[in-house]
Amino acid sequence: GATVADLIVSAIARFPERPAFANDEATVSYRELGHMISRIAQHFDDLGLRPGDTVAQLGVNRFEVFAVIAAIYLRGLRSVTLHATGSEADHEYVLNDSTADVFIVDEYHRARAEALKPRCPRVRAWLSIGKVPGHVELASAIRDYTPQPLVPTGDSEQVIRLAYTGGTTGRPKGVMLSSRALVTNALLDLSTKDWPTDVRYLCVAPISHGAGSLVIPTLMQGGCVTLLRGFSIDGVIAAINTHGCNVTWMVPTMLYGLLDSGRTGEVDWSRFHSLIYSGAPASPTRIRQALATFGPVLIQSYGQTEAPNDILILGRREHAELADAQLSSAGRPYPQLRVCLLDEHGVEVPDGQRGEVCVRGPLVMSGYFNRPEETAAALAGDWLHTGDVAYKDADGLYYIVDRKKDLIISGGFNVYPKEVEDAICVNPAVAAAAVIGIPDAKWGELVMAYVQLKEGCVLSEEQITAEVRLAKGAVATPKRVELVSALPLTALGKIDKKALRARHWASDA
Ligand code: AMP
Ligand code: MG
Repeated sequence: GATVADLIVSAIARFPERPAFANDEATVSYRELGHMISRIAQHFDDLGLRPGDTVAQLGVNRFEVFAVIAAIYLRGLRSVTLHATGSEADHEYVLNDSTADVFIVDEYHRARAEALKPRCPRVRAWLSIGKVPGHVELASAIRDYTPQPLVPTGDSEQVIRLAYTGGTTGRPKGVMLSSRALVTNALLDLSTKDWPTDVRYLCVAPISHGAGSLVIPTLMQGGCVTLLRGFSIDGVIAAINTHGCNVTWMVPTMLYGLLDSGRTGEVDWSRFHSLIYSGAPASPTRIRQALATFGPVLIQSYGQTEAPNDILILGRREHAELADAQLSSAGRPYPQLRVCLLDEHGVEVPDGQRGEVCVRGPLVMSGYFNRPEETAAALAGDWLHTGDVAYKDADGLYYIVDRKKDLIISGGFNVYPKEVEDAICVNPAVAAAAVIGIPDAKWGELVMAYVQLKEGCVLSEEQITAEVRLAKGAVATPKRVELVSALPLTALGKIDKKALRARHWASDA
């Protein structure tokens, strides 16, 4: 089968003159992108890198990061991208666990690179994008190479990416993604999202993660990518209006931020094509509001690093046709995948009942790097066990209930945080809510809610509690509510429940 590098090379050959990346500073054509990939790949050869060797990167969104990734894929090496907001210990761990041979860091992370250098003895080349003391700048390292025709090496089963995930319990794990999984991801995106031929993708989250997986399908269509260094309302609005972006991908917190900005009127949404929300559970109240604001552009996508981002999808048209109660649905399986809900004995549950989402298909990871036991558990019975709980309605629509490990057991009763969060978010004064279990001598765990109100809104803790009690009953009602001005977010902009739990639990293992 085709490799990811084949897809990229073919796009470069088909659309040489078109812009591949564009932002306020620069436009890079497909031809220029191809030249850069070739130069980087030749430098990798001269560094002695061979298939299976690993190149790690830490930096903000820029097209060079993608060019490096593409060169890695071209040579059958392995790409590792570090989370920008990770701690020094996280970064040290990932560089060593992945056995990184090369580390490329940008000028914004020079202090981090300096701290890591003595602790990552295996890394034999320290490169930089931008100027970093003690590093060879990539731009000068590749300047003298003559671009060569791009000839991919490697086959589709080869692992070309280690995507570090988790850390909620214990250390992050390196998800081994083969070319087959990444090709499947790109093809599934193209076959389900119904993009316009002139797709202009606005990438607002790190390209090293979920949002970045849309770069390759964009290029396969001859489209253009606009990268934001970080999410901001200004950035989103300016990029849409200046660069004609018509597709984007956001985690729900970003979508809520846009809705609450009071600035959605600055964009002509009728010219926009798709706004994909993904990466974390979304509140149906907010999705209804988003539909009213943006029109029929919403796409919901559910997935995880282990089955890169494409397990269940609720398409644009379906959003408009759904009954109100179905708006919290994650949709239906992507084509080519088998999805089922299994109970703790591995038996499929009937419609309406809760089970763990399990997935089979070419998208699924090859395993966790150097972790045979965790791999065996995650892939038991040849199903990927996602760790997410869901049920399916009579129409075949799936509903993600929550993560198995986020389940709160209070006095023997099960409470799924997402259901409590949705009940809290029904109140229009609420911007976002995060519910966790906190330790309690009597009940084991107590339900606690962190609630962020919209600017200028007032709501009391008692009101919040009363509304949840009315909607969900006493067991699910938070015993503690704390109003906060902001919720902690992960690198991707998801609500960081680990950080919230750490405030209450001695160790979050
Ligand atoms: P990650 O592997 O870091 O991308 O995180 C994946 C996890 O995020 C999944 O296992 C889910 O728990 C959650 N998640 C991702 N997308 C969605 C979604 N659309 N709806 C609900 N939860 C989601
Ligand atoms: Mg992901």
